[in-house]
Amino acid sequence: APEIQELDASRLVVHRADPTAREVPDEVTAVSGLETICTDHMITCTWRVATGWEAPELKPYGPLSLMPTASVLHYATECFEGLKVFRGYDGKLRLFRPELNAKRMLMSTLRISLPGFDPKELEKLITTLVAVDGPKWLPRSRPGSFLYIRPAVIGTQPQLGVQAPREALLFITASFMPRMDSPPGGMKLHTSPEDMVRAWVGGFGYAKVGANYGPSLLATQEARARGFGQILWLYGKEGYCTEAGASNFFVVWRTKEGKVQLVTAPLDDRLILDGVNRRSVVELAKTRLAGEVEVVERRYTIDEVMEAGKEGRIVEAFASGTAFFICPVSLIHHRGKDVDIPMGEKGDMGPYTAKIKQWMMDIMYGNEQHEWGVVV
Ligand code: PMP
Repeated sequence: APEIQELDASRLVVHRADPTAREVPDEVTAVSGLETICTDHMITCTWRVATGWEAPELKPYGPLSLMPTASVLHYATECFEGLKVFRGYDGKLRLFRPELNAKRMLMSTLRISLPGFDPKELEKLITTLVAVDGPKWLPRSRPGSFLYIRPAVIGTQPQLGVQAPREALLFITASFMPRMDSPPGGMKLHTSPEDMVRAWVGGFGYAKVGANYGPSLLATQEARARGFGQILWLYGKEGYCTEAGASNFFVVWRTKEGKVQLVTAPLDDRLILDGVNRRSVVELAKTRLAGEVEVVERRYTIDEVMEAGKEGRIVEAFASGTAFFICPVSLIHHRGKDVDIPMGEKGDMGPYTAKIKQWMMDIMYGNEQHEWGVVV
């Protein structure tokens, strides 16, 4: 029997694109069309149950070839990641805590019966793609810019039997994404419709699998049409607050006793994604706001939020995630009632939100040397 190969970044086979074939668009044009603009290259790696992972390939960005019977197209055997590479103000390229994305991708992959791998090898492949395309697509003349990296694994076995795929494909692309400016006046959240739930205990809400996203679009689309940015997903008859769209959600409030708390949903219910930004907010607030703000990861209900709003105890709220980063929330609409959330003196965001956002940006863009900012 042939030996089963592990994912191994050092076996990378390189097929370079013609570097003059495509020009780097300006950042506005790059995100204004109907199609995501990717960089010159992508990385792919095929897996087969009998032989394991083949040598990964770096090659020109382009379409994948799949049979219509491929597992992913029928049974949602897909998971993905999202992280950014930043062009620092010191001219260096940095990833933000990429080992967390690589580990999370392994967790998601295993949840849908796709093949495991050493997350360090995935991290190396991400770094390689960024090292190859970064210099051209994130020119040093554009400090403060970034690209979005999308690794994914899909089941490719062309077999309609409902079973764990015996063939899979890992791929990584890098692309443009809109700037991280928060919507003027902050983001407005609409709580989830009474008859819809994003995730449930015993489900897979904690995994970054495509199956969590498609079905969430209906509620989001409806809320958008009514002027809201995201759905605040509630859970259970108690109405526990979980996540805001594809971001984690934080409230800063004063307790009835007058203590200032930064509150967010807990991980141990396995309802929410263990966000890299969520974790970073929690860790930074615990150390840098110690004594001033208590960080609390616990179940909390929309009724508690509405009550705090009515009693004027909400200090700030924000969503955290790779796409929209730290995004201030100015309003929550729940069952016909609005809670207005303070947005600070300048009206753009509250002081805690601003501080946390600045700390994280400083690490991402190299203004603060920190182990979370991993130089490519
Ligand atoms: N929750 C969900 C459902 C998400 O899709 C994301 C985006 N990955 C997040 C939270 C935020 O996670 P992160 O901070 O790692 O981007």
